Amino acid sequence: MSSLSDNLFCFILVSFLLCVTSVKAQYHTKVTLRFMERSEIDTSKVFNAMPFPCYVQQRIIVSECTDDSLELMLPNCAVCWLNTALYSNINIYHTDSSIRSNDYSFDGQTLVVPVSAHDTITITYYYNSEDIAYNESLFFSRCLFFCQETWHSVWFTCDGMLLDTICVHFPYNAGRLTNATSFDPNDTLFVCDRSALPKDGFALLVFDTMYYYKLKLSDTPLVQLYLFRGIERSLSDGNGMILPRSVDVEVLNKIPSNTLSVILKISDFFDFRIDTLEILDGVFSIAGSLWGSAFPVSHRRSMVLFDESFWNSYDWVHEIIHCYHTCLPDRGDSSFFFFHESMTEFLAVYFASCDSADVNRIFKSKQKMYRRTKDPFSSVFQITSNSLTSKGGGSFGAVYVKTPYCLYRLAEKVGKEEFFRLLNLFFTTVREKGEYSFVDFENFMLSNGVPADVWKNFKRSLYMKSMRKIDKLFNN
Ligand SMILES: [Zn+2]
Repeated sequence: MSSLSDNLFCFILVSFLLCVTSVKAQYHTKVTLRFMERSEIDTSKVFNAMPFPCYVQQRIIVSECTDDSLELMLPNCAVCWLNTALYSNINIYHTDSSIRSNDYSFDGQTLVVPVSAHDTITITYYYNSEDIAYNESLFFSRCLFFCQETWHSVWFTCDGMLLDTICVHFPYNAGRLTNATSFDPNDTLFVCDRSALPKDGFALLVFDTMYYYKLKLSDTPLVQLYLFRGIERSLSDGNGMILPRSVDVEVLNKIPSNTLSVILKISDFFDFRIDTLEILDGVFSIAGSLWGSAFPVSHRRSMVLFDESFWNSYDWVHEIIHCYHTCLPDRGDSSFFFFHESMTEFLAVYFASCDSADVNRIFKSKQKMYRRTKDPFSSVFQITSNSLTSKGGGSFGAVYVKTPYCLYRLAEKVGKEEFFRLLNLFFTTVREKGEYSFVDFENFMLSNGVPADVWKNFKRSLYMKSMRKIDKLFNN
């Protein structure tokens, strides 16, 4: 039983706690990224004279603080880039001083700076988005600079930090895909106001146009491809300079002829339009695994990047689906990976395949692959972060192999046409509603004619680790 005084006490306690947290520390920060022209690059300061070394300046205005030092970290540092290889010449200045402070510590991960209230701290450093361990044969991945705030951020942050503005200066020769807005007529200065960004935050992809072939697939929606041209060594140059390949026909040949029609089919299926879709390929490898990523730039604009080998399979379709399959359970919901990745993977096979024989062949290979995979999870619902270990472990087996396979078996049982009709209806309904979970999906399927025993077996299959047992469930 609760009384008014209990409630009042709670209210006072809660307000007090909120008060304490908000007063503890408040830092406003402005980040400036300045990509340098090649002529400006000082090789003694930057690891290699590669395109797009970035000069980062971060100004932190301290309005309130109770601690005497500020602990700063790089959030979401992607595994492909070594933290310790990111910086050279960290410089720190305090309020009204042009004198560099030596009073700080940096262990490659955490930067600790002494701080006092009403101080302004300016941190500057050079940043290369590339792993210096890349060998020469991977030179071409160096013509890219990638930053997605939720995936790999290039600036420091800490609790109580509010990012106000991100200002990006580009060199003239750089191609860029970003959600910052152009500020000057030459398109070399982009600024974005933190409050105007989508929930995934700031996104930026800078690439060297010299290495890319630009191909527009459609005007409405605008589908723009940036295709990596490959490299060749210049024979006339004694140093064997690495140059973009000049044969455009090979670049065009890697694109499946049905690329645009697949994109339009996906858009129809989700009943969601994107005005601008920009797709860039390249050579993307993390510890031997090839990767791709899709990220929203604004409500009706998306960027996709993936390894160029993705064009050879249905993997490119997987990344495109991410752009349209944007209404998802919350990240903390146990069904996040089921919908976000497994469902996407399942749909990708169907959208990329010309006929059911193709679909069957791909799922047959998933069936075989799962037998070779080490899957430490009892189900996809257990997974809280996506990972792939070198021996095929991590979440890979449950997320990309087994669960899509179970969805495939369910679809075959219900009937492909009918299952896709239901999925389309479900995703259209939840887009209007805005949120859902696996329970909503289950209720929807059961109340729309999926037999209870079929659904029960599907659910059981998601918790099984033996392909033989999974097949037995569906064969009955
Ligand atoms: Zn994915």
